[in-house]
Amino acid sequence: MAENKKQSSWKVLATLLAATFLGSSAMAADTSDPHHDPSHGHSHSQTANDPATIAYEAAKGKMQSPINLVSAEVSGTAGLLNMKFDYKDTPLNIKNDGHTIVVNVPEGNNVTINGHQFELKQCHFHFPSEYAIDGKVFDGELHCVHMDRNGNLGVIGVLIEEGKEHPEAAKIWDHFPESGETKDVPEVRVNAANFIPENKSHFALMGSLTTPPYTEGLFWHVLETPIQFSPQQIKQFQDTFEPNARELQKRNDRPVTLNY
Ligand SMILES: [Zn+2]
Repeated sequence: MAENKKQSSWKVLATLLAATFLGSSAMAADTSDPHHDPSHGHSHSQTANDPATIAYEAAKGKMQSPINLVSAEVSGTAGLLNMKFDYKDTPLNIKNDGHTIVVNVPEGNNVTINGHQFELKQCHFHFPSEYAIDGKVFDGELHCVHMDRNGNLGVIGVLIEEGKEHPEAAKIWDHFPESGETKDVPEVRVNAANFIPENKSHFALMGSLTTPPYTEGLFWHVLETPIQFSPQQIKQFQDTFEPNARELQKRNDRPVTLNY
């Protein structure tokens, strides 16, 4: 059991490292960014019965993501809001992987959650949201994907609702690359901290990648407070990509806490 877990963390780490160093192989794009394997060619709506999903052993697990976060079912933990961001301004490196926009982040951007440090690897977007709160699906969701020094992945999810234009997103939205392309825009500097709402209350749970190979063992932190994107910003994404949210999975008996 422990050995398996170790092996699967190692696999994820190895794939992510491959993503970091080799950049563009389909395999690497797939797991580094929890997005669809481009070689797979199918869109967001894999279900448990979908042969494509069945092909991935991990997708049969009991701790798949995303889920509906039900406030009445979570245990609340006051005083556990210990999330310290150390994100920096970095030159924009942006990829269109055919399913989403991925903002690649260089080394040295960290978040420490209850003393557990994760390094930020990349951020990407889903429209509509993947997680739901009390059955409410949001317009979109940002995922900031991190890795700790043992190769464990930690994702911070920030829900997006329609409202005011988001100035940090505007810098990224001006530079969407063509499908399959990556662009360096060194004159534009972005900081993922500008996507994090002031109120950092969040749902914490164990879950999975939301794209093949659906590997479990990810530490998910979904912030309760949404941020706003303008209708135009949402439309630009929707005009560029197919809906890219995986459908809701069962919580089963896994614990979900609300840290506030
Ligand atoms: Zn994602």
